[in-house]
Amino acid sequence: MDVIPGGVQHNLAFNYPFPLVFTKADGNRLYDIDGNTYYDFLQAGGPTVLGSNPPVVREKVEALLNECGPSTGLFHEYEYKIADKIVELVPSVDMVRMFGSGTEACMGAIRVARLATKHKNIVKMGGAYHGWSDQLAYGIRIPGTKGLQSAGVPGFIFKHTQEFFPNDLNDLERVLKLNQLRGGTAAVFLEPIGPESGTRPVDFDFPAGVRKLCDRYGALLVFDEVVTGFRMGVGGAQAYFDVTPDLTVFGKVIAGGYPGAGALGGKRDVMKFLGAGLDGHGKKALVGGTMAATPISCCAGYHTLCEIERTGACEKSAALGDRLTDGLKGLINKRQLPFVAYNVGSICHLDTVGTMHFAIRWSKPWQIPNILKETSVRKAEMQHMGAAYMAEGLVTLAGNRMYTSAAYDEASIDEAIAAFDRVFEHIEV
Ligand code: PLP
Repeated sequence: MDVIPGGVQHNLAFNYPFPLVFTKADGNRLYDIDGNTYYDFLQAGGPTVLGSNPPVVREKVEALLNECGPSTGLFHEYEYKIADKIVELVPSVDMVRMFGSGTEACMGAIRVARLATKHKNIVKMGGAYHGWSDQLAYGIRIPGTKGLQSAGVPGFIFKHTQEFFPNDLNDLERVLKLNQLRGGTAAVFLEPIGPESGTRPVDFDFPAGVRKLCDRYGALLVFDEVVTGFRMGVGGAQAYFDVTPDLTVFGKVIAGGYPGAGALGGKRDVMKFLGAGLDGHGKKALVGGTMAATPISCCAGYHTLCEIERTGACEKSAALGDRLTDGLKGLINKRQLPFVAYNVGSICHLDTVGTMHFAIRWSKPWQIPNILKETSVRKAEMQHMGAAYMAEGLVTLAGNRMYTSAAYDEASIDEAIAAFDRVFEHIEV
């Protein structure tokens, strides 16, 4: 606590009442420092669609480390191999540039889009997350609400960023029309299954509608597939919706859980605006990163993608996501809880309906006193829920999102559903 602001380094850990410290991650299980075992539905926030630490990837990374160490700053054949693999699997992509993270790849997409269109503005869906860069800062102005906004980002940064109501093509068109009078729209960013990984799902034909509007108003369509890419299937959300974006941002699975997970892909005539070195100071976009495209991230990503393709890991994870969601729906029904469970394949959600609050009657001895004094009601609720999950051997993302992986099977999903039932038993509505 004394040396780490907020007591945690990672923003995925905020729904636990105290830092959860792990010593081992393997397949679908996490093992904490006190010897407890958990079903892992956090899956590192999404990257480990094969499960945690799969030997088939680890062995390749170990061999690479023995040969050339973690990075050289020069070209390694794995950079070519992963780019080539992405081009093979994703038809909208002719060329790929690796970045250090999804946030950085989104920043690259903004620059390229502005150069390619000569337009100024960037449009995103209200509540969508595209990393934590200033221009795309989370929930900057969810229309009709004050929205969430990071402290430390001055208002003028948003002069050329606008948001529209999720799943609302009329509202998007309103913004695009307005932008014609103020420098045009360079890009519409989309989390294709809806803001914040589908927490607010969109209609199936919505992404196709956005594609049409982008064409009408001369904007590039950017699919942010940081979550959906190589998780919803090897072709990602664009194959699922049958929509061709101009640019695609990848992250997470692209490095199989190893550091340096970011990539930008698109057609040659758009990607040509990305510069390298001195190029980036002229007519091309300056992008970079000392730790972008390290041999480790490219090697881990390449072998992850090959294994996903070979084993059908996305389809397997998706079927298990359906099973988990169906199980949760059954529990909600049985206990008449004000929750709703839904999923797109292996991306699963469990939300409270409306703004109803709930309390958990403690059945475990290690309840956390005084949470309410220290935090907001919402955060306290999430931490109560997080603590209850922990007590039953479950780890989720922010209390309400779960990723399944190919390291699960039907029996382990059913065991986890039984653990969820033991948590729900103590919920008082
Ligand atoms: N875009 C989406 C849809 C994401 O979910 C995330 C991260 O969760 C990002 C971008 C940012 O990626 P990174 O955390 O690698 O910077």
